[in-house]
Amino acid sequence: MSDLIATDTAAPLVLPDFAAVQRAAARLQGIAIRTPVMTSRTADEATGARLFFQCENLQRMGAFKFRGAYNAIASLPDGVRQRGVIAFSSGNHAQGMALAGRLLGVPVTILMPLDAPEAKIAATRGYGAEVILFDRYSQDREALGRQIAGERGLSLIPPFDHPEVIAGQGTAAMELIEETGPLDLLLVCLGGGGLVSGCALAAHALSPGIRVIGVEPEAGNDAQQSLRAGHIVKIAVPKTIADGAQTAALGHYTFPLIQRDVADIVTVSDPELVETMRFFAERMKLVVEPTGCLAAAAALTTKVPVRGLRVGVIISGGNTDLASFCRLLAA
Ligand SMILES: *Cc1c(COP(=O)(O)O)cnc(C)c1O
Repeated sequence: MSDLIATDTAAPLVLPDFAAVQRAAARLQGIAIRTPVMTSRTADEATGARLFFQCENLQRMGAFKFRGAYNAIASLPDGVRQRGVIAFSSGNHAQGMALAGRLLGVPVTILMPLDAPEAKIAATRGYGAEVILFDRYSQDREALGRQIAGERGLSLIPPFDHPEVIAGQGTAAMELIEETGPLDLLLVCLGGGGLVSGCALAAHALSPGIRVIGVEPEAGNDAQQSLRAGHIVKIAVPKTIADGAQTAALGHYTFPLIQRDVADIVTVSDPELVETMRFFAERMKLVVEPTGCLAAAAALTTKVPVRGLRVGVIISGGNTDLASFCRLLAA
């Protein structure tokens, strides 16, 4: 069953449902990695909970974004898909799209800011995408994206506000709960909310009674404000080391899903993210990027009460260059 909801834009949106997550899982079968679920006696003793960490830092291209990108491209109609896809991103969505396009034999164009890190531009090109650089201070990337998409007949795939992207991201929680059995609580980081809204669809279907809580950076708590205000609140691009969550606003698909399926949204600070990076490196031998630490930080700081509960924690990604990783941990 899909829910129809009215928006302040034009046509009613058809929200993705659990069946869409199941279709995504079938497409991703044998292609996305079923990432390991790890536990830590140290973390359990410190919090009094049973924590299950899903390691999407060990997913192909280093983050869950591969799931949604692959599902969105794979679900385009045949003729449309072959013409190619376009995205704008300087982060994990770019690499997820580039890799998914290569695997599906679909040309991928990525718009990236001129001042994006060289390593990210190189990685995206390395997966075979055409990278078009633009000046983010003088050019409107959305207008540019639409123009190139129109000229070349490409489909634009946004990083979170797209039903098939959301459904693809939901396969992460689906696999986690298949592994762990029913959970009391699921903690998921959020930027634009594609991961948390997709995971909530899977979680409520597979573990009735579960609570899903979103975690965002303190400096960029637009989702928390939106949930409390009952409408999408837009903020200035937040300053935080959690660069995967530097979004200004939730989307037209993700907001109503979060309103319906996410119980609360909490925030954590940059120093708390650094402490969590240190915990993962020292105790669990995991390299996790700052954004990937959001959900775990909420549990380890017990900002979300977890004592006595079985808790799923999604580690969303591990893409950080070693120099910045060391700089953050040395401070
Ligand atoms: C994109 C990203 C997020 C945020 O995901 P949304 O779907 O925008 O909420 C979190 N962590 C990492 C590592 C990401 O790449």
